[in-house]
Amino acid sequence: MGGADGLDRAVGKLQTLVRIPTVSYRDPEQQDADAFDGFLEELATQFPLLHEHLELTRIHTPAKTQGLLFHWRGRSAERPVVLMAHLDVVPVEGDWQHGAFSGDIEDGLIWGRGTLDDKGALVAVAEAVERLLEQDHVPAQDVWLSFGCDEEVFGQAAPMAVEELRTRGVRPWIVVDEGGAIAGDAFPGVSKPVGVIGVTEKGVTSLELVVEGRGGHASTPSRLGPTARLARAITRLDNAPMPASVPAPTLELFRRLGPHLPLPLRPLIAGLTRVEPALARTLLLAGPETAAMARTTFAVTTLQGSPALNVIAQKAVAGVNIRVMVGDTVDQVIAHVRSAIDDDQVRIEVVDANEPSPISPMSDTDDGFRILTETIGEVFPNAIASPYVMMAATDARNFTAICDRVYRFAPFRMSKPQRQAIHSYDEHLGVNTFVDGVRWYQRLIERIPPSD
Ligand SMILES: [Zn+2]
Repeated sequence: MGGADGLDRAVGKLQTLVRIPTVSYRDPEQQDADAFDGFLEELATQFPLLHEHLELTRIHTPAKTQGLLFHWRGRSAERPVVLMAHLDVVPVEGDWQHGAFSGDIEDGLIWGRGTLDDKGALVAVAEAVERLLEQDHVPAQDVWLSFGCDEEVFGQAAPMAVEELRTRGVRPWIVVDEGGAIAGDAFPGVSKPVGVIGVTEKGVTSLELVVEGRGGHASTPSRLGPTARLARAITRLDNAPMPASVPAPTLELFRRLGPHLPLPLRPLIAGLTRVEPALARTLLLAGPETAAMARTTFAVTTLQGSPALNVIAQKAVAGVNIRVMVGDTVDQVIAHVRSAIDDDQVRIEVVDANEPSPISPMSDTDDGFRILTETIGEVFPNAIASPYVMMAATDARNFTAICDRVYRFAPFRMSKPQRQAIHSYDEHLGVNTFVDGVRWYQRLIERIPPSD
């Protein structure tokens, strides 16, 4: 597929770019600067028209990497469109069937770190633009391409790109970044793939629970020292989850899935708002993945105590990673943690505080949301397009400061094992589905509505 119209040439470009190990680390010293520079050079080689016709602003981050912000002038600048992707990847872990930077193609699959997250989307966006430039296409509105270089470490490229746009007075009409996909076997009983478009994302907030005490020799401990007090606090927090609820995008998702559910389940969805509490309970019971759809979650991740086995800790610290549900606020979450722990000798320190993102329009009467669902309908005719709440964080959240329509969706068919391979091992993308992704971005750009 794709041979006749030359779309498969993009596959070779993706292979070449997957082979360049642009791995992001928290510590910039660990980063392979040559790989990042090499990637940008290779990108310029692979997409000559894009680099010739679009105006490029380089976003120089404090970590010495570069994000790219391209400006493609359209017939109007009134409703600018931003297409996003990132060129960095997470480190390699686990045992891969094909080398993580091999870009191997076998049985119609292309293998390697970044094929799904997120070089596949980056190359598909660039190829769509390159093809349109070959046809002398002028988009109806300005199109900006924002390619980040540090998404995987919550870096500065995206906020700096937002600042650059703000300085230029650009207020995007719509932003499309990674996130959802054309998800196969996503919901039990639903055989069709679901094109899930993230209309909001949970906020990522981190706290430290700190207990300090006298310390001393391990031969003369007193009761409820720093470590025991910290352990009690952790257990109390674990036993006191936040209340569950089903936010509007999740209700809308179930409403859209309703007609595709097996007959016995359909009545459940029919009176959805009435059954919201029942739906929340069902999500909680169905396992950790669905439970995360229904409430703020807490994960105690790091633990520190005494540095020596025979010394009582003077200070014990637990890190808590929190994903704040749409509808909750960071303040409410901290108040909940304080009351659950119920111990004023446990100090709560806020490390990062990020609220959940505002909910972008998700009705088919909204012009912006509709171009996404219509383009999904055209390129993936058997998919059910729907809004949903994204559980993970993306660079897109930064754009909510300057744009009301921020959507998280990459136009690739992904099976459950493929989704599980993201940030894990054996990441791979179907060659045909990649080619369909190129077509999707191309059609999306062609569908951008003119100003009235
Ligand atoms: Zn990503």
